[in-house]
Amino acid sequence: MSSLTRARAYIGLGSNLDEPLAQVRQALVELGKLPLTTLHGASSLYASRPVGPQDQPDFVNAVAAIDTALSPLALLDQLQALEQRHRRRRLRHWGPRTLDLDLLLFDDQRIDRPRLRVPHPHLCDRAFVLVPLAELTLSLRVEGEPLSHWIERLDDQGLQRLVEDGPG
Ligand code: AMP
Repeated sequence: MSSLTRARAYIGLGSNLDEPLAQVRQALVELGKLPLTTLHGASSLYASRPVGPQDQPDFVNAVAAIDTALSPLALLDQLQALEQRHRRRRLRHWGPRTLDLDLLLFDDQRIDRPRLRVPHPHLCDRAFVLVPLAELTLSLRVEGEPLSHWIERLDDQGLQRLVEDGPG
């Protein structure tokens, strides 16, 4: 597969049910195994307060960078199938979920379809997306502005970087 035909895409991951840390770690591995796709990098894991109803557990979040020869819609299909394999339960909007995968960016493409909007509509106002994304790339611009511009505008959203256990 020629690298010329591959796009760099960024995926937001979130979980707050059924061992969220394990859900996100496992999903990072699985993203690298999607067809025509390799995992380029992954951010640290973060804990964040839920958006919407507060009577649910905090989320574990991360962002992954992948290189893929899939089209944006084929990638969305794969992400939704991966969510289903994690037995995602959708009880209510913005409610708890075992795995949520959002296609944040796909090269510098703008996509505005009923099923898929890229850049992801909430990309610029969510700390749990912007902060891990900035770990992976600082050169990237969204809506013409560097990530630092959007991060400086955020209010406190209770985002905490989770420290991974080191070896031994
Ligand atoms: P959510 O409940 O936030 O996971 O939203 C899932 C719905 O958003 C699905 O019906 C998707 O087709 C749609 N959607 C639109 N744009 C995106 C995107 N950039 N990434 C993931 N899902 C998207």
